[in-house]
Amino acid sequence: PTETLVDMIDAAVGRYRRRTALEFFGAETSYRELGEQIASAAEGLRRLGVRAGDRVAIVLPNCPQHVVAFYAALRLGAIVVEHNPLYTPPELRHQFEDHGARVAIAWSNVADTVAEFPSDIRPEHIVAVDVSRALPFGKRMALRLPIPQARRSRAALATPARARGLLAWEHLTSRRALGRRHPRPSLDDTAVLQYTSGTTGTPKGAVLSHRNLRANAMQSRAWVPGLELGGETFYGVLPLFHAYGLTLCLTTALSIGARLVLFPTFDPKLVLDAARHSPPTFLPAVPPIYDRLVRAAERRPQALASIRFAISGAMSLPIATVDRWESATGGLLVEGYGMTESSPITIGNPMGPTRRPGTVGVPFPSTEIRVVDPEQPDVDRPAGEPGELLVRGPQVFQGYWRRPAETAETLLPGGWLRTGDIVSVSDEGFVTIVDRVKELIITGGFNVSPSEVESALLAHPDVRGAAVVGLPRPDGGESVAAGVELREGAVFEASALRDFCRTSLTPYKVPKHVELFDELPRSLIGKVLRRQVRDELLERMS
Ligand code: ATP
Ligand code: MG
Repeated sequence: PTETLVDMIDAAVGRYRRRTALEFFGAETSYRELGEQIASAAEGLRRLGVRAGDRVAIVLPNCPQHVVAFYAALRLGAIVVEHNPLYTPPELRHQFEDHGARVAIAWSNVADTVAEFPSDIRPEHIVAVDVSRALPFGKRMALRLPIPQARRSRAALATPARARGLLAWEHLTSRRALGRRHPRPSLDDTAVLQYTSGTTGTPKGAVLSHRNLRANAMQSRAWVPGLELGGETFYGVLPLFHAYGLTLCLTTALSIGARLVLFPTFDPKLVLDAARHSPPTFLPAVPPIYDRLVRAAERRPQALASIRFAISGAMSLPIATVDRWESATGGLLVEGYGMTESSPITIGNPMGPTRRPGTVGVPFPSTEIRVVDPEQPDVDRPAGEPGELLVRGPQVFQGYWRRPAETAETLLPGGWLRTGDIVSVSDEGFVTIVDRVKELIITGGFNVSPSEVESALLAHPDVRGAAVVGLPRPDGGESVAAGVELREGAVFEASALRDFCRTSLTPYKVPKHVELFDELPRSLIGKVLRRQVRDELLERMS
C-alpha cells in the first residue's frame, strides 16, 4: 500500500485509456482525456502559484470539472477543500476564513460570492466554472441545470467577469501538461480537508491524508464482491463535496476503471433517463433517494434492475425502504456506517444473504471497534450493552484543522476515534446505531433516547416523519418534545399522538409537547436536523 490518490488515478488512466471515465448529461470523457485534463489543469494551477500544502477550494456541484480540479490540485501536493455550493455566503465565508485557500475553483453562480469576501479571506485567484460548458454544443443549449440559481449582486452584474478578478476554467486547462518530473505528494501528506455536515454544531475541517482516503477506497472495493474491473457503472447522485460521495463515487469508482455518471443534483427523472443508455450497476445513496427512485420507477422498475449493489449510509435505513427497493429491483440494498473523520466508512453489512437489515453490519477490513462508557471513554462496556462506539483503522483522520482541543477530545491515545454515536453490538458482531451522545435527552435521573421515541411516533399510521429533542427546563433538566410531519389528509391532534405513545413508552419518555411541521428541517444529504427542530420548538413556545 504505497500509492497516493494521484498514483491511483494515474494507474487507472494508464490501464483503462479508452474506456469512459465520466459521463455528464450524455457527454463522455475517456480515462485518457481525463488524464490529459488533469495534467493541464495542474500546470494551470501551478502557474497561479499553487504549491504543495496550499489549500485549493472547490465549490462545485458534481460535474466533470470537479473531478479534474480535484486530481489536479492533489497532483501538486496541494490540499483540496470541498464545499457545498448551495451554502449561504456567511457559511462559505466561515469556511474560507478557516482554511485560507490560495485558489478557489467555483461554480460560476457562486464565484462572485467568493470574490466579494473581505480581502483577508478572499483567495488570491478565483476560477469560475460554467458547468454546462463541459457539454457538446447541442446539449449545452438544451440543458437547464436543475440547481437553484444563486443571486448575483448588483456590482457583479454590472462588471464583466475578468474585471471582477475571475478567471475562466478554460484559462486553467488550455495549458500544456505539467512536467512529469514535478514532485508528487507522498502517502502521509494531507490530501483533503473535509468539513463535517454540521448536524450537531459548526462544521469542523477533518484532515484526511492520502493514506486515509486510499485505505477507504481499497476497503470499499473489498466490501463489494465480484466487482468487475473496467466494467462497472457508478451513479454519482451523492454530492462529491461530502465524504460519502467523495470515497464511494469518486476515488473508489475511478480506481476500478468504472464509468462514473455524474448528476449535479438528485432528480429521479434524470436518473431514469440516463439509465436508458448507461444502465447503472452500483448506486451509493441515502434512504430518501431510494424511496423517491422506487416511486418514480413504479411503472418501469426494470429501469433499475441493472443495479447489483445499492449502498445506504449517513442516516438510518428503514427496513420498509429495503423491502420496497429489493422487491422492485431484484437487487440488494445494504446499509453501512461512517463519518467524515473516518474517510468515511468503518462498518458495513455483508453484500449477500448474511446481511442484517436494521443493523449497519460488521467492521470493515483492518478496522477495530470498541464500545465504551461515553462519560469515561477508557472504560469498555460489558459485552452486549450499549455505549459509545470507538473505531480504529487506517481510514481514521489526522485531526481537525486548527482545532487542537477538539482533536484531543476526539482522537484518543492509541489512535481510537470517538464517534459520538451510541451503538449496541449483537453476539454475532452486528452493530446497531442507537443515537448520538449529544442528542440523548437528560430528563433528570433517566436518559431518553430520541430515536426510541421517534420510532414510537412513526408507528402511528398518520405520522410520516418525527424528530424528538430535549428542551431545557427551569430545574436544569430537559423535557421531551417532538416535531412531526403527517401524511397527506391526516388531522393533527397533539393529545392523540401523546396517548398513542403511552401505549408503548413509559411515562417519562412520552413527549410533553408535540408540534406539527409541514417539513422537518433536513440537511442537503437528507438528515433530519434535530438541532434546528429544537430551535424552532423553543421559538414557538417562547
Ligand atoms: P457534525 O459532526 O458536524 O455534527 P455529522 O456528524 O452529521 O455532522 P457526518 O460526518 O457527515 O457529519 O456524519 C456522520 C454521522 O452520521 C455519524 O456520526 C452518525 O451519527 C451518522 N450516521 C452515519 N451513518 C449512519 C447510519 N447508517 N445510521 C445512522 N446514523 C448514521
Ligand atoms: Mg459528526
